[in-house]
Amino acid sequence: IYHSLRPNAPLPPETVPISVADYAFSLLKTSLSSETAASVAPALISAATGHRIFYSELSRRTETLAAFLQNRIGLSKGDTAFVLSPNSIHVPILYLSLFSLGVVISPSNPASTKPEISRQFELCKPVIAFATSATVHKIPSLRYGTILLDSPEFESMMTNQLEKLRRVDVSQSDPATILYSSGTTGRVKGVVLTHRNWIAIMADAYGARPARTSPAVALCTVPCFHVYGFGLCVRTVAFGESVVTMERFDMRLMMRAIEELKITHIGLAPPVVLAMVKLGDMMDGYDLSSLEVVGCGGAPLPKGVIERFKKRFPNVQLVQAYGLTESTGGVARTMGLKESEVLGATGRLMSTCKAKIVDPDSGMGLPPSKPGELWVRGPSVMKGYVGDEEATAAILDSEGWLRTGDLCYIDNEGFLFYVDRIKELIKYKGYQVAPAELEHLLLSHPDIVDAAVIPYPDEEAGEVPMAFVVRQAESTIDELQIKEFVAKQVAPYKKIRGVMFVNSIPKNAPGKVLRKELIKLALSSATSK
Ligand code: AMP
Repeated sequence: IYHSLRPNAPLPPETVPISVADYAFSLLKTSLSSETAASVAPALISAATGHRIFYSELSRRTETLAAFLQNRIGLSKGDTAFVLSPNSIHVPILYLSLFSLGVVISPSNPASTKPEISRQFELCKPVIAFATSATVHKIPSLRYGTILLDSPEFESMMTNQLEKLRRVDVSQSDPATILYSSGTTGRVKGVVLTHRNWIAIMADAYGARPARTSPAVALCTVPCFHVYGFGLCVRTVAFGESVVTMERFDMRLMMRAIEELKITHIGLAPPVVLAMVKLGDMMDGYDLSSLEVVGCGGAPLPKGVIERFKKRFPNVQLVQAYGLTESTGGVARTMGLKESEVLGATGRLMSTCKAKIVDPDSGMGLPPSKPGELWVRGPSVMKGYVGDEEATAAILDSEGWLRTGDLCYIDNEGFLFYVDRIKELIKYKGYQVAPAELEHLLLSHPDIVDAAVIPYPDEEAGEVPMAFVVRQAESTIDELQIKEFVAKQVAPYKKIRGVMFVNSIPKNAPGKVLRKELIKLALSSATSK
């Protein structure tokens, strides 16, 4: 068992009822009293419009909104709220309000299609939704309807105090969020994270914060419906720092925001780091000197890109992080300049996390520097998949070890290196695409007898979904028709980017698709072209 080398982050005793919102506001109180500059700093800034919400307003808005939702709508502890919105300055306030009521938050990608949303509804069973005027048409009717985050009514729900909030006692073991992930196999599942899980992640990040003379200004380009952006926006607010939200990623807007808002930290996915190293003249003319740290996680960052980044931005620390939705986003990360020099490492275990490297064949624990499946344990590991005991038992053992489905090793210095993925998962620009979901769609086509979907390497996206298809004997269905058939039913990032026709799908004796063989076949046919 590998233990963290970081100092222990203090966690509140498990039995004390405390929600993520209570915890965030308690950290905030300390942050604002110790850093005088923070009390006048904006908590939230929109990169596109410059609209700001200051710390002096944050708790009042959160409480006013919670009081409205509690008294006028009737939301109560244990209800689930679905959220379908791009990043905005309202989203962190909404999250904190719902947390304080003990309402479970289930955010989804605003690009999700109606069928994808109905599947998520089956899993999380929401009573209310929060959407925008652009996404509301995709939401089925709900007991308490849908509230538009970009409406004047929502603004008044946050500012017009009509009633007093009755305190809700939230246990740390209560569910806080349901995020979506396909885990190591199969279709999308609802990952239940508790208040304790989120508190553990925040406590670790709080303990690991380097001392600063002025509050950090963090640009959140990653989506707040994903564990990465969710954690980033909530914890930055709790730390009394400023969060700059970006609705849609745009490189020029990012550069302008860095210069104008003096951004110090940015959270990115690997494709944006790649785009940054490739920037030509576009970067000239922007003053990026405020930038101190670029955080990157969610998918592998090739060594070559890391080296180019360091050359291009020698004064910026590149912090790598590894985690998964099922571990509330955290497992390991680099801390400080020295650690970020360890090329290819995704850092060291966070303070609350333990790990094992397990031989996938024998199930035995492996010594340092030997690759095997990474298993992790700790207070940030999920409770389970909602309503799916079988899938939960398949990934989480009785001792609380989470099988990550990633092939990794840990060296003698405690650095975690990601090697490859064992699980069935495609990561398109850091977004999860479940092969099983696309295979299910392909098999619903009358002309398709069998199908398998694999990750195909792509410089810009990291990986793209590629399909192997066995056609019906007389069928003339072609690549374009198959791509269109799938594209109509899924969010754009899940589109199939390539199709290969085969006579059969290679499977092992129990009928499991031999994906590695298909990946080899796809690569060899590309090189022979
Ligand atoms: P998600 O639940 O969407 O965050 O996806 C988690 C998965 O993303 C992990 O199990 C890894 O396969 C991959 N991943 C996350 N961070 C990294 C990283 N730093 N390097 C390589 N793969 C990563």
